[in-house]
Amino acid sequence: MSNLAIGISHNGAVKLGNQVTCDGFVYGYEYRVQTHVHDDHMSNFDSSKHFQTIIMSEPTRSLLEIRHIEMPHSTNVITHPLNGIREYDGIKIEFKSSSHMLGAVQVSVTTPSGERLGYSGDFSWPLEDVIEVDQLVIDSTYGNPESVRKYTQEEANDAFKEIVGKKIKEGPIIIKGHRGTLYRSLELLNGLVQCPIIASKKKIVEAKVCENYGYCICELTELENPNIRKLRKEGPYIELRYIGEYILYEPGDCTNINLTASWVQGSAPLLKVSNSTYNIAVTDHADFLGTLEYIKETGANVVITDSVRGRNASLLASAITRKLNIEAYPAKIVRSKAWGV
Ligand SMILES: [Zn+2]
Ligand SMILES: [Zn+2]
Repeated sequence: MSNLAIGISHNGAVKLGNQVTCDGFVYGYEYRVQTHVHDDHMSNFDSSKHFQTIIMSEPTRSLLEIRHIEMPHSTNVITHPLNGIREYDGIKIEFKSSSHMLGAVQVSVTTPSGERLGYSGDFSWPLEDVIEVDQLVIDSTYGNPESVRKYTQEEANDAFKEIVGKKIKEGPIIIKGHRGTLYRSLELLNGLVQCPIIASKKKIVEAKVCENYGYCICELTELENPNIRKLRKEGPYIELRYIGEYILYEPGDCTNINLTASWVQGSAPLLKVSNSTYNIAVTDHADFLGTLEYIKETGANVVITDSVRGRNASLLASAITRKLNIEAYPAKIVRSKAWGV
């Protein structure tokens, strides 16, 4: 194995050199880069607030603030340009957008000795601009060679619009998705339907942040609005929910559309589960082939696959070696008694 300057701690902190962690905390590391706001990347954020300087894009900061994650007013939270390089104590840090969700970035760190170390973060493919590094930690969500999408995101978007346009004539529609994919659907719904689109106050606040950064979202009606019952009786409507969200009110006759990132097999982007339930693959992750293309473009000569967040780290590592002829290993999870390591 090459002399690696990158790694992942058991709690998911991606280590780029000996001063920078990404999306996790390791005691003794001066800087934490926050690539985006998804929960699986937020581990030990409180510890980082106390012991590290946290670097993130401005939209990421806005999204964390509206989730009431208190940001210290002191200088240990720094906003870094979404596409830009800055130097911190001789360490050059570069962000490039990863097109995964609002504010999400790929990170490269150039150490004082000139090593270029990178972390893809969660990313979608194709990407216009890719970090150039020697050593790379890669997200392995779709590292399984079977995770190949046989349609474009454009085709998936069209399928979504078509099913919404058809089913809204029959009654209400519930759209479920994770943050990110749900907000993407707001752009697709914009101008598509005339009926009210209902979302909780919290979701509307988050959607407004997306709008501030250039998303073109549709008009939304607050779920907490006192007239909501009346409005539901008056005619068709669309309601937006997070996957797994606990809801008091379930309409009887409605169509459920699940925006799912996990279902990517098959030749079509739409899966009819029953007469009233459809799954649509609106994903914000690269598939297996996109992941390999990404690695090639970074120019990395050694790759570590993320085995904390993705379940396909070993499969992906052997595919990288086999297909790209690049040295690759699943992250070896090192547990130690030292705190946060
Ligand atoms: Zn994510
Ligand atoms: Zn993730």
